[in-house]
Amino acid sequence: MMCAARLAIFFCFPLVLSAVLSAQKVSVSQPTIWAENPDVAAFEKIETDRLAAAQRSVDTLLGAKGPRTIENTLVPLDEAFHQINSAAYFAMLMEQVHPDATFRDHATAMLTKASAAQTAIALNHDVYNALAALDLSKADAATRYYVTRQLLEFRLAGVDKDDATRARLKKLNDQATEEQSMFDRNISDGQKTIEADPSELDGLPQDYIDRHKPGADGKVHITTDYPDAFPVSTFAKSDSLRRRMALAFGTRAYPKNQEVLTSLMKTRYEIATLLGYSSWADCNAADKMIAKGHNIADFIQQVNDASRALSQREFEMLLAEKQKTDPGANEIWDYERGYLSELVRRAKYDFDSQSVRPYFPFMEVKQGILDTAADLFHVSFQQEQNVPAWDPAVETWIVIDSGKPIGRFYLDMHPRPGKFSHAEMAPVLDGIRGKQLPEAILVCNFPVPTSTDPGLMDYGDVQTFFHEFGHLMHHILGGQQQWAGISGISMESDFVEAPSQMLEEWIRSPQVLAKFARHYKTGEPIPADLVARMNRASAFGRGGWVGRQNSFSALSYDIYKTKPEDVNLDAVTLDDARRYTLFTPLPETHLWASFGHLGGYSSAYYTYLWDKVIAEDFFLQFDHNNLLAGDAPMRYRRVVLEPGGSMSANDLVKNFLGRSQNITALQHWMAEEFDASVAGPKSAGK
Ligand SMILES: [Zn+2]
Repeated sequence: MMCAARLAIFFCFPLVLSAVLSAQKVSVSQPTIWAENPDVAAFEKIETDRLAAAQRSVDTLLGAKGPRTIENTLVPLDEAFHQINSAAYFAMLMEQVHPDATFRDHATAMLTKASAAQTAIALNHDVYNALAALDLSKADAATRYYVTRQLLEFRLAGVDKDDATRARLKKLNDQATEEQSMFDRNISDGQKTIEADPSELDGLPQDYIDRHKPGADGKVHITTDYPDAFPVSTFAKSDSLRRRMALAFGTRAYPKNQEVLTSLMKTRYEIATLLGYSSWADCNAADKMIAKGHNIADFIQQVNDASRALSQREFEMLLAEKQKTDPGANEIWDYERGYLSELVRRAKYDFDSQSVRPYFPFMEVKQGILDTAADLFHVSFQQEQNVPAWDPAVETWIVIDSGKPIGRFYLDMHPRPGKFSHAEMAPVLDGIRGKQLPEAILVCNFPVPTSTDPGLMDYGDVQTFFHEFGHLMHHILGGQQQWAGISGISMESDFVEAPSQMLEEWIRSPQVLAKFARHYKTGEPIPADLVARMNRASAFGRGGWVGRQNSFSALSYDIYKTKPEDVNLDAVTLDDARRYTLFTPLPETHLWASFGHLGGYSSAYYTYLWDKVIAEDFFLQFDHNNLLAGDAPMRYRRVVLEPGGSMSANDLVKNFLGRSQNITALQHWMAEEFDASVAGPKSAGK
């Protein structure tokens, strides 16, 4: 994560136009999101008009006479979804990026209104009955799929239940929303500070030490915020400091969140029961690729079987490293994993992550990613000039396919005060074929290029940029549907991390890096042996990473798979850590209390590994000697991305792979470092 306080100085760099971009200019008549340059009142009018339009569409639908047809039912319903989505996307974006705090507060209030409008439709009996009565005999496959899926979503909201049950469900859903935000807030408000002796900072990077001078009490004060905490767990030589940090970090929202999480589990269990499911995990899986709760358990087991041997091998390397200073050691605490891994990476792969930064200046990386995406997806990008936005640094781009515009995106790439502090792709408009181009935005916090500093990016930053760009291309290329409700990434939520994780892999390709990774001073391309060491070092520890993610997936499933009364949060957390990792958990950390995904993802944290399996399987279909060769790139675009949510994600996967995904590709990915080393990992080096 980037430092949010970095100065937002922005200099206009001369644009490097590649050959495709200098081709004939394409213009788009659709106004940009900020064309009206709205103040709070104008923003609220745009939003209120959209919600009013949605309500008019619902009224039209309900007022229609005669048999239910696509024209008198699905058309107005989809228009209502489209209007509400547009209102929600805009409000969510303004909440995250608008420089003025008052404006952001108004955006939050507007977002609540848009969610209320969504819930009102979801629980509207008459709308559901109208949709259920629709004659689909002449409809195309995408429309039939859309209606079937939408009816399922209605039933998962409880629309077909009696009045009393619906009233109870509405209350429970509001309660769950409130409990979930309380759970999140306790974590973000739960910052702790630990005291350290200055000598305990030994091993940390010099710029970190410079930023952490001792106070009047002679102690250094270190918070549990990521930029403070992560370097400690990775670099601090002091075991005591790392242990204290792990304890503080794990107990940020403890004991506060004990009651909140238990209550949230009960609320969700009751929702599931009212809807006819035996557990929240089952209910939550019903509209996803995985379909059933017990499939999550099977998947976790399968990942465990696939990763165990490799995890063991890595564990032995880490233990050997630990025994250098603690000869009698026979176990590794989980808080030691990051630190020992870093030691192994340096010793065995001669790789220091600082050494690649000079090859990743922001502007060149951005151009490199655009060029890579243009080649891969057979599109081109053209920047729109002088487009008004909420911040002068925001860029606007058109996506062009065969000379025609097919979408637009915005780049808001650098930190400023009050801005969302992670990285994300967010939809701005759903594409509707012939009516509206899809639009999306990347909201990131990458280093700012200035006249004196080219904004050098970390390896992880560049990987994040690729990841988010994968989401963006999915939304744009999948955004050419007849209906807003199946456009872009409106689909099973346990598929959407696959295209982004697939594109992440491209950063490791020397072919891709050769295009843009040049030293910012000398212009020299990144040396091949540095790329090789970077790739091998980053490949070390994947078995352990997968095991750890798997233990989180298990925790997320286990607390929601049964009656909440039967769950002991501490016991489940420790059991899952012991079962799926080889590291010893610190019993006092109560990790569940600060694991935010137990709120939002609830039982579906498996999504990351599930999509990692799919992403690696997809990636193996490309020619790794020349990623752009053959028909894989175009087939991937046509078969996986372009359908958006118009068919089941399980079918998308089968259509591309010729079968369902399997775990072999993930195994290959995990073992890459060991496979690459003919003489064994011990001889690894330059
Ligand atoms: Zn993502």
